[in-house]
Amino acid sequence: MMHRAKKSLGQNFLQDANVAQKIIKVFDARPEDGVVEIGPGKGALTALLLQTLPHCTVIELDNDLAPMLQEQFGEKITVIHNDILNVSMTELREQIGKPIRLIGNIPYNITTPILFHVVDSLPAVKDFLVMMQTEVAQRIVAKPRTKEYGILSILLQYYSTPKMQFAVSRNSFFPIPNVSSAILHLDFEHPFAPKATHEQLFRKIVRGTFGKRRKTLRNGLKGLDIPVAELEGLSVDLELRPEELSVADFVQLSNELVHLAPQILNTTTEEVDG
Ligand code: SAH
Repeated sequence: MMHRAKKSLGQNFLQDANVAQKIIKVFDARPEDGVVEIGPGKGALTALLLQTLPHCTVIELDNDLAPMLQEQFGEKITVIHNDILNVSMTELREQIGKPIRLIGNIPYNITTPILFHVVDSLPAVKDFLVMMQTEVAQRIVAKPRTKEYGILSILLQYYSTPKMQFAVSRNSFFPIPNVSSAILHLDFEHPFAPKATHEQLFRKIVRGTFGKRRKTLRNGLKGLDIPVAELEGLSVDLELRPEELSVADFVQLSNELVHLAPQILNTTTEEVDG
C-alpha cells in the first residue's frame, strides 16, 4: 500500500538498508530482551529486529501505519497505536515483564520531550538507541565549557552514559530531511555516580541556573531565592558560569543545598528546554 509521508508526524523513513543493518548490529538485541520500538513507520528497523527477536512491541501514532504494521508482522509484534508521550513506560515494563530496551528513529521535533519522558520513567528503561538530529546528539555528549553544553548534557549524562555511535547521511531517508542525523546510545544502567541526594532539587538547580546562562552561578542561585548567607559556605566557585560546572559539581552543589530543598522547589523558574 502506498503511504504518503506526513510532515506533521516527522516522517522521514529510513531507505538505506546498510544503515538499518548497522543500527541493528549496534543495538545487539538478544532473543530474551524486552524490546520496544518507537515510531516504527513502515517497519524498516522492525523487520530486522524480528530476525533475532521472537516478538517485539512497537509504538506508532500514525492511523494508517499502525494497522499496516500489524498486518505485515502479525503475532510477532504488539502494536500500541498511541502517542509515545502518552504511553507509560513503567506500565509497559510491567506488561512485558522485563526492563525495556528502547530503539527508534523518532520524529526530530519531539526528541527532547521523548528523552525526558524516558528519563522520568526510570528504572523501567534499560537503554535507548536513538536516531536524532546531529546537533542534539552533540549537545547530549558535550563537555563543560563548550557552547553545546547545557541542561540536556547534564541531565542525560546524569541519568545515563551517552555514547555517540555514528553519523547518518540525510540521503539515507525519504523524504530527505533538512538536518543531518546521528545514532546515539543512552545506557541507563550506568548513570552518573554518586547520585544526588535529592534528584528534583538537582534538576531544579540545573534548570534554574542555566535559565540564566550568561549569568554567574551566584546570580542564578539568587533567582532560586537562596538567602545570601547560605551561599557563602558553598564549595563551588560562585563566580563561575553554569556551563563551567561539571555534572559532579552540580551534584555536589545540590547536595550542599539539600536543607533548603522545600524552599527552592517552591520558586518559579523559567523552564528552558534543552
Ligand atoms: N522508524 C521508521 C520511521 C521513522 S519516521 C524508519 O526508520 O523508517 C518517525 C516515525 O514516528 C513515523 O512512523 C511517525 O508516524 C512516528 N511518530 C510520530 N510521532 C509519534 C508519536 N508521538 N508517537 C509515536 N510515534 C510517532
